[in-house]
Amino acid sequence: MRGSPFAIEGRDAAFSMPIRRPMHFDEEPKKDSFCVTADLLIPGKGEPIKDGTIVVEGNKITKVATISELAQEFSHLPKYHVQVLMPGMWDCHVHLLGLQKVAGPAFVESQQNMALTGARCARDAMLMLEAGFTSVREMGGYGLQIDRAVEEGTLVGPKIYSANCIISPTGGHADIHDMHRPWFEDACAHGMPMANADGVPECLKAVRMQLRAGANVIKICGSGGVGSERDNPVDQQFSDEEMKAMVDEAARAQRIIGAHCHGKPGIMAALKAGVKTIEHGSYLDEEAADLMVEKGAVLVATRLIVENGLVLGKEFFSPAGYAKLEAVATAQWNAMQIAIKKGVMCATGTDSCGSIVGSKLVKQGLNGKELYYHVEAGMTPLQAIEAATANGPLTLGPQAPKAGQLKEGFDADFIGLDESPLDDIRVLGGPKHVTHVWRQGKCYKSPGHPVSSL
Ligand SMILES: [Zn+2]
Repeated sequence: MRGSPFAIEGRDAAFSMPIRRPMHFDEEPKKDSFCVTADLLIPGKGEPIKDGTIVVEGNKITKVATISELAQEFSHLPKYHVQVLMPGMWDCHVHLLGLQKVAGPAFVESQQNMALTGARCARDAMLMLEAGFTSVREMGGYGLQIDRAVEEGTLVGPKIYSANCIISPTGGHADIHDMHRPWFEDACAHGMPMANADGVPECLKAVRMQLRAGANVIKICGSGGVGSERDNPVDQQFSDEEMKAMVDEAARAQRIIGAHCHGKPGIMAALKAGVKTIEHGSYLDEEAADLMVEKGAVLVATRLIVENGLVLGKEFFSPAGYAKLEAVATAQWNAMQIAIKKGVMCATGTDSCGSIVGSKLVKQGLNGKELYYHVEAGMTPLQAIEAATANGPLTLGPQAPKAGQLKEGFDADFIGLDESPLDDIRVLGGPKHVTHVWRQGKCYKSPGHPVSSL
């Protein structure tokens, strides 16, 4: 479709130049227009509007104002009313993997049972939309495939921007250290979303493979991890040279790199190499926060998975893994407070990756709990909402859509709530208070009608 003279709308920025189209007299389809009025309108960026309204045409917001300003002009349009209206939320760090454990063998199981994994991910996509998340950034998993199902209308879910495979060095965070190496390589070759690369030429190839698959963002490991067996979250992983080569390669294709980084050496090296988003950022200190501000980088802190891990306890992890988690948990809580105090740009991300039906923790759809931790760490509720809405697209660099705000010309992705999150941010912590969900101008949830794919 892209580049074809018959393409109607180029989705991404790189292909959005005007395209000459064949002429038909009845070419312009009638766009559905409607208004949504609200007692309180939270635009995502900027001050809330009391008695606000938006006008939607097709999949875009065309006007934002107070109800009285627009009452006359748009009196003919169908109207919906919600108590609180705000942009659909963004979770900028999730995984669609259908995992039921946080351990290497679970990744292999998810790759060996693709239909099962797909079924779990399909439910996860619906759970996130039901909870008011209209866009997610999937940082390693089957997001590209699930997104295709959503886009073609097979499934209902948020828009999914995906990194496809996580790229790490051999023995790094995206390697399964206990696995016989040829088996690991075979699993990767058969779709397990991990790629190992060592040295600049392999790093370039790994980035190009993700571009070939259609990745919207590139995910690399700048430090060791918690879930991986024998690496240390404090240590830097890719070398400075490898990181720089991958940043440059991604930039040539108008992609940015998001780097998994717990330890400070990895954070500093990633920022100096031109990485634009720091995922986790657990050992970020004042110096690292200053560099983030200077470089205009975004922090995606993922507190929810850490808190959930601490509640799940030792049985859920290996002993070494749980010890790493405890250390990271303490450091990260300080890091989040430093980042907020220093004015680092923050976007909401949870690292949610589990798919257990009936679980209170290991599931998608609780992504909005992250905003509670934003507020506990020092943000105002309005800042937390900005991190989960307007700041979301900033984690995609040149691939960012005009979304995440109630603003003229922006995507018609928005939600209705029955209580104000400015009074209690926990309102956004699950699907309960999300009364309505619209994505691309289409209503997917309203009172008595939960999100459904039929
Ligand atoms: Zn992750």
